[in-house]
Amino acid sequence: MKSNYDDKIAQKHETPLAKRVYTSQLLGKDMDLVLHGGGNTSVKIDKYLYVKGSGWNLDTIEEAGFPAVDLDVLKKMAKLDFLSDTDMVAQQREALLDKSSPNPSIEAILHAIIPFKYVDHTHADAVVTISNTPDGEQRLKELYGKNMLFIDYVMPGFILAKEIYEQTKDVDFSKLDGIILLNHGIFTFDEDEKIAYEKMITIVNKAEKYLKENRPTKLEFSKKFCKLDDSFTDELKKEVEMLRGQKVFMKFGSSIEAVNFSNFDNLDDIFKNGPLTPEHVIRTKPFPAVIEDSIKDALEKFTSRYKKYFKNFAKDEIMLDLAPRYAIIKGVGFVTFGKDEKEANIIFDIVSHTIHAMTLSQNLGGWKSLKPADIFDMEYWELEQAKLRKAK
Ligand SMILES: [Zn+2]
Repeated sequence: MKSNYDDKIAQKHETPLAKRVYTSQLLGKDMDLVLHGGGNTSVKIDKYLYVKGSGWNLDTIEEAGFPAVDLDVLKKMAKLDFLSDTDMVAQQREALLDKSSPNPSIEAILHAIIPFKYVDHTHADAVVTISNTPDGEQRLKELYGKNMLFIDYVMPGFILAKEIYEQTKDVDFSKLDGIILLNHGIFTFDEDEKIAYEKMITIVNKAEKYLKENRPTKLEFSKKFCKLDDSFTDELKKEVEMLRGQKVFMKFGSSIEAVNFSNFDNLDDIFKNGPLTPEHVIRTKPFPAVIEDSIKDALEKFTSRYKKYFKNFAKDEIMLDLAPRYAIIKGVGFVTFGKDEKEANIIFDIVSHTIHAMTLSQNLGGWKSLKPADIFDMEYWELEQAKLRKAK
């Protein structure tokens, strides 16, 4: 990965907010850093934090995508013992400079407590791939040394901001290269937007190099092949539409990597162990259907597994539909199911990056990301549930 910062172009972005837009777009345009709405950035100007607003993607963000929130209010919120994410969103809205702005990112408090002007956050594939292995933390510590702060996984939102607030009370931020949130992503920061951005690139480069040096040389496959023909795709579409209660759009992935991955013998083990980065689960569900030959069997296995997972962790949540968002098809690759073409494409990108990471992990002891309880908390997050209740 290389820096795409261009001094000539950057010069045209004169104000701090314009500079913020410029490097945010640079981060957003690299799909190995963030995918579809992932990641967030901010800049502190006077008494306000301008932070990515919800509904904006970094690759296309503009100045209007950065609501300004009162910095002191955010810093005070970090000192609270408890705050639900619903109340956090409400209080952040109260503290907006312009009440017509979009909701500030749920990571706004976290951005506020990092004492630097520019703060960049991504879910860089290479770093989370290493993190999502059994000895991931140790590997990363050896790779980055003592100037990197490591935070164990906690759910994004208030409790993550709180965790970082507590853990950084006595930390000299100026000595830190960045913060790695295990199984989630990275933060970099600086007074200068170019340096904050290039710190991110440097950190990710190190991880990419590490993965290259530890690339799997030989992978063991069983060779099973489903026959992909019209009757197969018709049946698959019909069955998934029935589970979802609406039409679905399908997109097939059959790169060499996808075909190889589909023939892994340990897919059940891999998919027990979480997504690439937590937010993905909202798009992909915790695991896919795995089709060995019979579509019906695969979907039955998926739905019973999903019901069990829901029952294990649900308190008073509303269960989502029982349709998979993607399926692995032995010998063929994978297929994604979207309610429209756009959603099928988004899931396609996420799955492509996910199976790449899962493949690389096989030479690092295997895949180990979030625990089922953490996956559930993310998929059934109160703010997502609120959207559902509103829709009903
Ligand atoms: Zn994140």
